[in-house]
Amino acid sequence: MEFLRPDFLLFVCLFVLLGLFIALNPISRTHKVYLAFHFIMMLWPLGQVGVRSTDIPSYQHFYLTVSFVALSLLGPGWLAFVLFLTRRTHYLRRPPRMLAFLMPAFLCAASAIVNPFSQFLKPENGQYGDREYGPLFWIMTFVQFAYFFIALLHMFNAHRTVRSLNERKQLATSLLGMFVLTVFAVLDLLFNVVLSPWLGVVQGLTSAGIVLSDICFVIAIYRYGVFDLVDTAKHKIYEQVETGIIVIDEGCKVLDFNRSAVGFAQPVKGETFDLERFLMSGQPANDVSDFLFKYRHHPGEKIRTEILLTNGHYKSVSLQISPLLDQFKSLQGRIVAFFDVTEQRKLIDEMNQKNEALHERNLELIAMQDELYRVNKKLEQAAITDGLTGCYNRTFFQHYVEHEAFLCKQRNVPFSILLFDIDHFKQINDRYGHLAGDEVLRATAEAVRSTLRSFDLLARYGGEEFTVFLPQTSREEAQKVADRIMSSVLHNKVRTAGETICVTISMGIVTEATDEEAAAGTDAVANPDDIGDVLQTLFSKADVALYKAKNEGRNRVVVS
Ligand code: GH3
Ligand code: MG
Ligand code: MG
Repeated sequence: MEFLRPDFLLFVCLFVLLGLFIALNPISRTHKVYLAFHFIMMLWPLGQVGVRSTDIPSYQHFYLTVSFVALSLLGPGWLAFVLFLTRRTHYLRRPPRMLAFLMPAFLCAASAIVNPFSQFLKPENGQYGDREYGPLFWIMTFVQFAYFFIALLHMFNAHRTVRSLNERKQLATSLLGMFVLTVFAVLDLLFNVVLSPWLGVVQGLTSAGIVLSDICFVIAIYRYGVFDLVDTAKHKIYEQVETGIIVIDEGCKVLDFNRSAVGFAQPVKGETFDLERFLMSGQPANDVSDFLFKYRHHPGEKIRTEILLTNGHYKSVSLQISPLLDQFKSLQGRIVAFFDVTEQRKLIDEMNQKNEALHERNLELIAMQDELYRVNKKLEQAAITDGLTGCYNRTFFQHYVEHEAFLCKQRNVPFSILLFDIDHFKQINDRYGHLAGDEVLRATAEAVRSTLRSFDLLARYGGEEFTVFLPQTSREEAQKVADRIMSSVLHNKVRTAGETICVTISMGIVTEATDEEAAAGTDAVANPDDIGDVLQTLFSKADVALYKAKNEGRNRVVVS
């Protein structure tokens, strides 16, 4: 019945809890941390039972050492567990921090093991059942309380900032567990160390605290243990995605990488991730100097580039580096992610090629369109002009005049028509040849054109006969224009085949007056609705006037 001491029973409780924990939870990394923590917690009551189960001082000392080593490690174990629980393990990632975190506990454990000059504890009457505690014990006690206190602060702080209700419950339960253990540890210290000479020993206080707090932790993990499920899911995704991921610390040392990362780079845990060497192993799609500059000097910025890996088979890789910041926005490390974008790159390149071809085809089409426009323009011009003289042809002239004359009639403004013919042109042909005759026709047309106003229209009426439409022009003004034409033709000397040829013209003028003038009987009255008839009449009149000019001796103007 000796073994049915409270500490032993509590040890059994802890053992059962351990079994339950293993049975009820899928084992994840957080669980492993908890198991290590739980194991340390179990050592305390075990040591306590051991010390009371023997009278041999060296055995008693051994069990006590086990208890106190366990106690020394309980503080950091607890703090580590809290950091896992609150997802703040990145605090321990830097080796100096890790050392500072573990060192006090190790020193406490070492002082419990070595017990230098019995400064940790010494037996009373040669037995460790009753013992006296030295300064090293009190230092250990202080260190443990410091760990507990820091862990409590962390918990409390995390409990305030966590938003999810489930996590809050989980933290609250763990907080309760820690509080219970702290209370029991203080009571143990009070009763069994400070007041033991007066009150006697109360067994199993710390062990009871450990069991109660452990129950709280198991509830926290099992009942509200969402974080482990999420962590497991995250880990699974991390391992299974095709995106290569390397996690580096702020000094670019590789902390972790997933399976896919091996297909892109050759990361080695603990070694520096050499970005430059990685970029050299392929052909960067564009200038990487800016990318490298930001990688080195602006580690807090998210950066991206693309590279064509040429080792083995060709692979287009999009490389993205994102910072990992803590809540104070200070850099903890970085995630280097590799995406295989070979297919997308191929499609983009194909698309670009097609676009380029399309662009070239477009340019060709535009050039063709321009050419077509020019040819059309030429054809249009050819359709309405006379090839020899460049004047408008008769067909166009008729259409144009019909329209313009109609407008003049509508607005009740006068217009005039000139009809002229080169004198004795037949003789020029006969004397100088047809080619010279052609040149005379061209030069005469040019001489006439140079005297006209911008809105007058000159056309070749047929053979060596020309006509000019003068819109908004009265008889008097038309006569002035006619005089200018006569003079220009007269002074025009055509040089061809070594000869200088001068010609004269005979001209008939006809004017369509305004309605008032027509009413005053100064000119023929025309029906404004039938402009075709008006023009026919006008042209026959002009013809008669031209005929008259010929008959009267040529080189003159006759007004109809
Ligand atoms: P008139 O003073 O009475 O007008 O005498 P004319 O010699 O000019 O008489 P007519 O009008 O009968 O002669 C016109 C000549 O113009 C006849 C034709 O051979 C010539 N002719 C017509 N078209 C062209 C042409 O395009 N080029 C050349 N070189 N001659 C032309
Ligand atoms: Mg003639
Ligand atoms: Mg003629």
